[in-house]
Amino acid sequence: MRLVFLGAPGSGKGTQADILKERLSLTKLSTGDLLRAETEKQSPLGKKAAEYMNQGKLVPDDIMIDILKKKVTEFEKEGIGYILDGFPRTLPQARALDAMLEKIEAPLDAAILIDVPEEELLRRLTSRWTCRNCGATPSFPGGKPDDAICPNCGSKDLYQREDDTRETILKRFDVYRKNTYPLIDYYEKNGLLHRISGEGEIEEITQRIETVLKKM
Ligand SMILES: [Zn+2]
Repeated sequence: MRLVFLGAPGSGKGTQADILKERLSLTKLSTGDLLRAETEKQSPLGKKAAEYMNQGKLVPDDIMIDILKKKVTEFEKEGIGYILDGFPRTLPQARALDAMLEKIEAPLDAAILIDVPEEELLRRLTSRWTCRNCGATPSFPGGKPDDAICPNCGSKDLYQREDDTRETILKRFDVYRKNTYPLIDYYEKNGLLHRISGEGEIEEITQRIETVLKKM
């Protein structure tokens, strides 16, 4: 089975990918890990990618696709299924991925979108606070009470890191919407998209995905 996982920051898609790869005996393919492996091996592709990474630039899509192609071709030979997590992130990447998979006659089976309303995502992502005294990061999913203390050291000196503030998270949502909505449309049009509600317990969500995959 060849799957792509999509979902906003905080949707829990990484968690679900980890659980499902175990249950369904799939491999999780992370482009970050693949890049690291290629650059460490100093393969021709790895060297090309490293040139960009060393300059702090994004690795161009065509190099990323070539690296993926090498890996998935190996997988096809060995009959290994996979979940792509974190790729594609843009419409051109999705198109390039499809074109490459078509060439090796191993098309995607499904794109799983873990769908969570933005209000809920915001609640999840802004629940994390940091203790100025000991550095612990307690979570207050229902909002931080005024008299909250650090569960580790008892200090009242809790603050939100820049990354955890409402403002920063809303900016991340903007980026997500801009990049991923066209991707969702694309997979919807070619009939691969499955929307799974990402609300509720982790196990419930896993079962929803399993139910969809079993029907395929
Ligand atoms: Zn503390």
